[in-house]
Amino acid sequence: MLNSKYNKLSPCCLFHYHVYKHVAVFAHPSTQFYTFTPQNTTMQNSILLISSSAVHGYGYLECNKDAILRLTAGITTPVLFVPYAAARSEWDSYTDKVRTFFSTLGIAVKGIHTVERDRMFTDHQVIFIGGGNTFRLLHELQQQGLMDPIREAVLSGNMRYMGSSAGTNMATRSICTTNDMPILYPQDGFDGLNLFSYQINPHYLDPDPATSHKGETRDQRLAEFHQENDTPVIGLREGAYISISTDFATTHELYIGGINGARIFLKGKTPYEAPVGEAFVLT
Ligand code: ASP
Repeated sequence: MLNSKYNKLSPCCLFHYHVYKHVAVFAHPSTQFYTFTPQNTTMQNSILLISSSAVHGYGYLECNKDAILRLTAGITTPVLFVPYAAARSEWDSYTDKVRTFFSTLGIAVKGIHTVERDRMFTDHQVIFIGGGNTFRLLHELQQQGLMDPIREAVLSGNMRYMGSSAGTNMATRSICTTNDMPILYPQDGFDGLNLFSYQINPHYLDPDPATSHKGETRDQRLAEFHQENDTPVIGLREGAYISISTDFATTHELYIGGINGARIFLKGKTPYEAPVGEAFVLT
């Protein structure tokens, strides 16, 4: 399945990143050293994971418009939009909002709730899962039996995937590093689509040393995650995105772009800043 994954993608969406001949070493104030291995790569990005659609100073999705343009390059079908992170009463208006943005790119949008089941995966080259409440989103996708078909459509190369916030959480190994409250109980558990076999914490916020607030910082919550789990977590600040290809689970090669960057959280290690603007593998 994985070998045929790009055969339906237009060549113009296959991106080539710079060639790096050395290994970068980043020092952290704790004096621990971590290495990233920049990749000699012809990485093909068909999965775009955005931290947030709303970024201070930008219109809806505008901040990552360049990356969205690259992901959607060459498509000839409407984007299939999944509004299930929002309340049912908002599915239409949410779809309209997404439609307004994509119209500026000359791309049509269909709400998945208006499309017949047997046309969902045949008539659309890009699926976009939008933000909202991650538990509600997972609950609805499970109820409709859509988790496996979406995963299969993306990994087989039939569909490119774009997620924002809750939709980004959905692409990861599990939704356990969401910021959301469990307002609904996803009966089949917390597993995500596992297109990105690490975790992401979207809207990542750095600790504020000046605050008098005593609730857990995001770093403390992610440290708690690592008391119980081993999976690496990327804290993706608002304005940043992760771009990967469908064989991430094998290559672990990723690219972080946009603005504001990201922080990497590994079990038992001091969190550190991710490289931005180059493809790399975490080692
Ligand atoms: N509620 C967020 C969103 O979709 C997801 C998160 O913060 O984990 O905007």
